[in-house]
Amino acid sequence: MIYADNAATSKLDSQALDAMMPYLKDVYGNPSQPYSFSRESKAALRKSREIIAKCINADPQEIYFTSGGTESDNWALKGLCDNIGGRNTIVTSAIEHHAILKTCDSLKNRGYKIQLLQPDSSGVISPSELSSHLSKDVGIVSVMMANNEIGTIEPIKELASMAHEYGAVFHTDAVQAMGHIKIDVKDLGVDLLSASAHKFNGPRGVGFLYVKKGTKLSPLHNGGSQESNMRAGTENIPGIVGMAIALNNNCELIQSSHQHLIQLENQLLSKLKTNVIDFKINGNRDFHLPGLVSLSFPNKEGEMILHRLDLKHICISTGSACDAGREDISHVLKAIKLEKTYAKGTIRISLSKDNTDSEIDIICDELSSIIRS
Ligand code: PLP
Repeated sequence: MIYADNAATSKLDSQALDAMMPYLKDVYGNPSQPYSFSRESKAALRKSREIIAKCINADPQEIYFTSGGTESDNWALKGLCDNIGGRNTIVTSAIEHHAILKTCDSLKNRGYKIQLLQPDSSGVISPSELSSHLSKDVGIVSVMMANNEIGTIEPIKELASMAHEYGAVFHTDAVQAMGHIKIDVKDLGVDLLSASAHKFNGPRGVGFLYVKKGTKLSPLHNGGSQESNMRAGTENIPGIVGMAIALNNNCELIQSSHQHLIQLENQLLSKLKTNVIDFKINGNRDFHLPGLVSLSFPNKEGEMILHRLDLKHICISTGSACDAGREDISHVLKAIKLEKTYAKGTIRISLSKDNTDSEIDIICDELSSIIRS
């Protein structure tokens, strides 16, 4: 099997798995209990928080553990809403993940106004686009750090600074970017940031929300006093431990992974260009997640390509199937105004540091033969 769908989920880091095992088996004390058996769990929680904070240049008290990206995104927007005074407008982008867009839909039903920023044809949300939407009514701006379908990296530092000029709070969904590009929350100037472990070789079902000290956010739900009374519920210690190790390992390897991934990407694209005459590469080639390649083939069906590659034991994803099943072209491809003939034939190949050049050759050969047939 060749796995080239790492933006959907990624293989668990083996060191992360080893670190998790004791907490799945023997070290099961509830960290909220005062007896000595729980001390090790409590220490693991503290250490994991410190490791994660260090990876993104945050303070440990600014890291809140969650169940993943969807929960972090929901909490960020819903938890901020009650704290933005009379401001009733939320600005986000048209290419966000549904964890943001559907949360905004639900807030619209509660009376908030939602404004959608439009990207350029490469998926960039420009500072000038944000500037035309800012006013004293805007309480929250939320723009993703990197797009999950086309890989474009957004100018977060500039966008956050503009939002602050108008007194708005800035959140970024960094689910695809975390562990893949360098992230320094202080340098970026973001107030909140969402992340999910399974996108950076951590376990599934665990993530975190960074909340800058002093940011007013309501608790996610009510219950116990875990996570400084902000996110009640007994902590997922094995998941949190695995997430910290996976993030730390990925962050240490970022530079060498980048080189490897860019090399694989170049190999993929140059070979494909010699085999297939007509296709488009989506996203911004200068600012994109290394290893995430979105390709559109005219007059083809992405779904068909996916299934034909699956028969050859190659896992990729379509870039056009909308998960709600109502439309055949995703909201992202619509927003970048990709022509329908190309949009329908879009696939996403998302590579990891574990992919090899011989795997790329196989993907290219199989893909070319499907497109030509
Ligand atoms: N945000 C983005 C940009 C994503 O790509 C995803 C998952 O694909 C999510 C949020 C949701 O993350 P999770 O699956 O951890 O809930």
